[in-house]
Amino acid sequence: MSLINCDECAKEFSDRATACPNCGNPTMIENRGYFDEGRAVTIQKTFKIWKLVKLLSWITIIIGFFSLPNGEGGGVVLIVLGIIGLIIGKLGAWWTTG
Ligand SMILES: [Zn+2]
Repeated sequence: MSLINCDECAKEFSDRATACPNCGNPTMIENRGYFDEGRAVTIQKTFKIWKLVKLLSWITIIIGFFSLPNGEGGGVVLIVLGIIGLIIGKLGAWWTTG
């Protein structure tokens, strides 16, 4: 336990207090915890989206490979689209954490 200074009124109080006893301003630790929690939830949600992007990309690539023997060129387009999707998924996941 240590003493911290209030952002609002500069009064010293315990860092275990959730708010300043003098003016009621929430402690920085409380604010940070709230911020991290919100950010963690956002990252989790975004990661699920990128996972879905990667999954759909793999499905597109597999469908593309199966379409290749038809010789219509559609298979190649699907494979290229799938690879682009995988790159976007990778970049997106990296962007979210970085
Ligand atoms: Zn205060």
